[in-house]
Amino acid sequence: MLHILIGLIILDFVIGRTLSILNATYDTKPVPESIRDIYSDEKRERQVRFAQVGRRFSWIHNSFGTLAIILMILLGGYRLLDELIHGWCNVIESPLLNAIIMAVLFFLVLSILSRILNLPFDIYHTFGIMKDFGFNKTTPKIFTLDIFKSIGLNILITTLILAAVVSIYMQIPDWFWLLAWAIVSGFSLFMSYFYSQLIVPLFNKQTPLQEGELREAIKGLVGKSNFSLRDIYVMDSSKRSTIANAYFTGFGRRRRIVLYDTLIEQLTTDEITAVLAHEIGHYRHHHTLKSITISLITSLLMFYLLGITLKYNLCAGALGCVASFHVNMYFFYTLYTPIETLLSLVGNALSRKHEYQADNYTKQCGVAEAQITALKKLSGNSLSNPTPHPAFVFFHYSHPTLVDRINNLR
Ligand SMILES: [Zn+2]
Repeated sequence: MLHILIGLIILDFVIGRTLSILNATYDTKPVPESIRDIYSDEKRERQVRFAQVGRRFSWIHNSFGTLAIILMILLGGYRLLDELIHGWCNVIESPLLNAIIMAVLFFLVLSILSRILNLPFDIYHTFGIMKDFGFNKTTPKIFTLDIFKSIGLNILITTLILAAVVSIYMQIPDWFWLLAWAIVSGFSLFMSYFYSQLIVPLFNKQTPLQEGELREAIKGLVGKSNFSLRDIYVMDSSKRSTIANAYFTGFGRRRRIVLYDTLIEQLTTDEITAVLAHEIGHYRHHHTLKSITISLITSLLMFYLLGITLKYNLCAGALGCVASFHVNMYFFYTLYTPIETLLSLVGNALSRKHEYQADNYTKQCGVAEAQITALKKLSGNSLSNPTPHPAFVFFHYSHPTLVDRINNLR
């Protein structure tokens, strides 16, 4: 089993790196005719440089991460941590409380350790690469606060979820997979329903779209789709980066379209209207609910397999640890990687289909040409790759390529 675990980690690394090499071979391809206007020779050169720097960075980052995990396994780092935690928790008498605290400690120590090891990479990415190419606007203060907020959030969510699933495992082990799935699914439904109210405000300010030209321009569009103007917000994303975006989130009464302030800065009123029509397209096609349903089904499979892993002590045994819930659960994710990869291929294909459907809605609204110029500007401004390798697109792209989207819109 140890060999399988290490083999899977290496396989994942090799697939990622192979796709990256394939993608690099497409850097010399000519930019397709339909988007040549946004990639002058000089800009293409700059974009290729950006891609190369990013690839070099992810090679180093990925190799470091993979090596660190393999060394931790081979040198007994995980076993040592598990033994230490067992020692610390010896004094707790209640077996349930003991199991919960051990699980929480095991997960949190590893996640904070990984945060610390990744910190130099994050700093270099934000204040080196992104700054050099003019994308970064984060200050060291915002960057530091973000880290602390996300660690706090991580501690809270990890503790809540582990307390629930460990309790179920200790009390009703036979039905663990089903009950744990129900609890975790309920929690993630709650989080996605209240995402804009609970999570986003920790990091960004969202303000309802102000009176003015843009609000007037989209009134007609919104009216036709029974989407309310009150559900459109602008977010101050310009405090972190110049990258522009818009998204649709939530469902039912909590549905919301969020436009980045950078999007409003970079696009004309007609183009913003088109982007908004695209987001309303997602709403009209119930894409959020469809994605949630699919993730509920796939996570049922995941919990079923996790139940088997726990029952037969597949991971902890392989690492030389005593049978413990947390070690098995922590390494289950590695065992699950091949299935996760297959599911993400299906998920990305479905997401690309949803993007076409949302784009088709902009056609129905008669704003397809503005959507094309909006997409071109956004891609050009973010130096996105105009010639990605098809295999890379198949594996990693949740959106169709710019050229494919333009062809579809025309
Ligand atoms: Zn979309």
